Amino acid sequence: MQVARVLQSYLDGETDEATARRVAAHLKDCRRCGLEASVYREIHNALGRRVEPDAAAVARLRTFGESLVNDPPAGDDGEERNASPPAGA
Ligand SMILES: [Zn+2]
Repeated sequence: MQVARVLQSYLDGETDEATARRVAAHLKDCRRCGLEASVYREIHNALGRRVEPDAAAVARLRTFGESLVNDPPAGDDGEERNASPPAGA
């Protein structure tokens, strides 16, 4: 049995229910495969995160950046005058 391949299919949810159940049972029995499964799962999650960036978050960030460029916040120009030292010292 090609454990690695079956494991990957299992973690991708590509196995039928009977196989999935057999793999789950084996993972409980076999510490080595259980470890391998957790590694595969982590790799799978990491890849999934990279392949599918949060498009909504990216769009929001881009809109926010553009709003900063196009519509800068109104500055109060009284700050500099308050900070200047007294004249004629
Ligand atoms: Zn095993």
